Amino acid sequence: MKPEIDLEKCIGCGGCMAVCPLTPKVIELREVEGKGKKAVAVHPETCDGGGACVHACPTGAFRLVE
Ligand code: SF4
Repeated sequence: MKPEIDLEKCIGCGGCMAVCPLTPKVIELREVEGKGKKAVAVHPETCDGGGACVHACPTGAFRLVE
């Protein structure tokens, strides 16, 4: 599984990053040009598909795909 983040829906709250149990975390908040802070998958290769991030997202921006 790997994260797929809809940058139009992401409000940059960091909820997904906060609940990710992995080290290094799969997600970081980064400035995306013209869009403000957004969740960005910086270590997608470490994702184990646990899904805590999906449940933590208040806007439905975050999903895990094959
Ligand atoms: S929890 Fe959702 S809205 Fe918040 S930073 Fe992550 S993807 Fe964006």
